Amino acid sequence: MEAWRRQLDDPVSAFPIEKAGPAHVATLKTFEPPLSALEGRRLAGAERRAKRLLFPTEDGELVLLVHLMTAGRLRYLLAGEKGPKTPAFQLAFEGGARLVLTEAGSKKRAGVWLLTPEAAETELAHLGPEALGLGAERLAEICAGDSRRLHSLLRDQRLIAGIGRAWANEILHHAQLSPYALSRDLTSEQVGRLAAAIDAELERGLELRERGAKDAKTYRVHGKLGEPCHVCGTPIAQVDFEEHTIYYCPQCQTGGRVLKDRRLSRLLR
Ligand SMILES: [Zn+2]
Repeated sequence: MEAWRRQLDDPVSAFPIEKAGPAHVATLKTFEPPLSALEGRRLAGAERRAKRLLFPTEDGELVLLVHLMTAGRLRYLLAGEKGPKTPAFQLAFEGGARLVLTEAGSKKRAGVWLLTPEAAETELAHLGPEALGLGAERLAEICAGDSRRLHSLLRDQRLIAGIGRAWANEILHHAQLSPYALSRDLTSEQVGRLAAAIDAELERGLELRERGAKDAKTYRVHGKLGEPCHVCGTPIAQVDFEEHTIYYCPQCQTGGRVLKDRRLSRLLR
């Protein structure tokens, strides 16, 4: 997300908006103010709060908020550059450049909100502190605050903002911690390892994204079922948990133990 923000920061502010929309009915989450309120205004640039991109107008009156979820992609197309036939959302700038949101698959999960700065603040108020640069001390407080399985805790945006399911897999592997370990059971040494892993993995991801790397190259554990662990060579395993598929190394992370699908074991109990 940070890589995208940096890429978009300059171009989106280069020209005033000529036409805002069209937007897919499931993508646009707000009706008031209308999208047309953006027309004729210039964006100040791109900001980021966790996984949300914010585009405030230069006059400080409106904020366009974009949440890409997992399948959304935001692209800046130069004048004349070919784009998708039916974008989920589009901003056309004077001079012909466009900002285009597309979403793979039929489920429309990505969202666009046009808000006043006050409403945007309220919308973002429930987010936890940024994951990158969180530090061991702050993480220790978060871990002690609630007994949660680590994979679930890392993804909870109210506790830590900016980690999705894929990076939760990468981070836990890097920290050599079980996705099912309970946050309150961590030693301070383990918390320190987890804090370091958060920074190391998010920075690695940022660097690769900036170089244009695709998912397959960026992830080393996520989506790599059966492929050798890059540390020890053990095949990566997977387990379903809370509607997500967790990927992990049974050697590096769980001391050789295979994690059980908790949804299934609940049904059988
Ligand atoms: Zn391993």
